[in-house]
Amino acid sequence: MTTDAARRFASLAVHAGQDPDESTGAVIPPVHFSTTFAQDGIGGLRQGYEYGRSGNPTRTALQTQLAAIEGGAHAFSFASGLAAEDTLLRAALAPGDEVLLGSDVYGGTYRLLARVLGPWGVRLRVVDMSDGDAVRAAVAERAPRLMWVETPSNPLLRITDIAGLARIGHDAGALVVVDNTFATPALQRPLALGADVVVHSTTKYLGGHSDVVGGALVVNDEALAEKIGFLQFAVGAVSGPLDAWLTTRGIKTLAVRMQRHSENAAAVAAFLTSSDRVARVFYPGLADHPGHDIAVRQMSGFGGIVSVALESGPAARRFAESTRLFQLAESLGGVESLVNYPDAMTHASVRGTDAAVPVEVVRLSVGIEDVDDLVDDLDRALRA
Ligand SMILES: *Cc1c(COP(=O)(O)O)cnc(C)c1O
Repeated sequence: MTTDAARRFASLAVHAGQDPDESTGAVIPPVHFSTTFAQDGIGGLRQGYEYGRSGNPTRTALQTQLAAIEGGAHAFSFASGLAAEDTLLRAALAPGDEVLLGSDVYGGTYRLLARVLGPWGVRLRVVDMSDGDAVRAAVAERAPRLMWVETPSNPLLRITDIAGLARIGHDAGALVVVDNTFATPALQRPLALGADVVVHSTTKYLGGHSDVVGGALVVNDEALAEKIGFLQFAVGAVSGPLDAWLTTRGIKTLAVRMQRHSENAAAVAAFLTSSDRVARVFYPGLADHPGHDIAVRQMSGFGGIVSVALESGPAARRFAESTRLFQLAESLGGVESLVNYPDAMTHASVRGTDAAVPVEVVRLSVGIEDVDDLVDDLDRALRA
C-alpha cells in the first residue's frame, strides 16, 4: 500500500488537502465563506482559525494541495500572481539589495521590480538566465541578493538549467526563485532541482479554466516561510474562499490537462515548423530548440505554450488578428486556445527596455481542443 506521503503527482493533485468533511462526510470539502470563527472562551480557537485574513479552511486546503504538488514544506496562496511576487520580494529583500532578473520574464514582474520596488531602494539587473556564462559573469561582477528566473520563459521559451543556476546562486549567497507558471509542477519541480522558492500565477494552468485570478509561493526554508506567512497576514493580499476553491478544483485535473496541452502544442509546433510563412518556431520540445537537451533533463513534458516569429511585425499582427478558434486575448493556460501579440499586449510595459519582445513574435497558448481544428485554424490564419 502507498502511504499518503509517498503518493505520486496525479494522486496528490486530486487528494492533498481534500479529506472529506468531518461532520457530513462530504467528499468535496465545503467552501468556507465565514470571515470570523467562534471561540470557546477568549483565545480558545477550535482549529487555529480566528479571522479570514489570517486563515481560512478553504485557503488552507489549497495551500496544502500546492505544497504537496510542488514537493515543498510550505505554500501560501494570494489574490494574484503579482501579489504573491510582491509579498515574496518584501519578505526577502531590504533597501539596497539587488535582484538579478531573467531577460524575458513576465512583463508585470519587471514592472513590479522596476517601478514599484525600485523607488523603495531595490536594485535591478537583467541577464539572459539561459546563458550560464553570462549569469556567472554577472554574479562575479556583484553578488545579487536574489535571482529570478522563468523557465520556460515568457514568451521566447528559453530554458534555464535550474540545478546549475541554483549552484551559481547559492555559491554567491543568493536566494534562487523560479516562476513555474509555464511548466507547472506536473512537468517540472524546481525545489527538487535546488531552487529556494517557487512562484505561480495560479491564474494560468493551475486554475486552468480562465475563471480565477490567483498566485502562490512554495518554499522549504522555515525562516523564509515564517516571514512570508507574516506578510501574507500583515499585508493581506490573500485569495478569497471561492477563488481558493476554484483553484483547488482546477489543480485536480492538472496532470491530464498538461498531458493534453503538451501533445497539442507539439503538433502545433510541428505544423508551424513546416510552414513557409513562419520564420522561426520557439518550443522546447523541438530538437533544434537551444534549450531542448536541458528541457529533456529537467521537464517531463514541454508544456502548452508555442511562440512563433513571422517575417515582419505587420505579418505577426495580421496573423494574431486572423485566427478564430485561437481567441485574441491576454493570459494563457486555460483549456481554450489563445493568441497574444506580446509587443502590444502582455509585454507592452517592457517595450524599449532590456526585456522587450521582438515585434515579429506571436505567442500561442495551445488549449485542449481537437488538435486538427487548432492546426486548421492556424493554417487558415497564416494564409490570410
Ligand atoms: C500571469 C503571470 C504572472 C502574473 O500573475 P497574475 O496572476 O496575473 O498577477 C507572473 N508570471 C507569469 C509567468 C505569468 O504568466
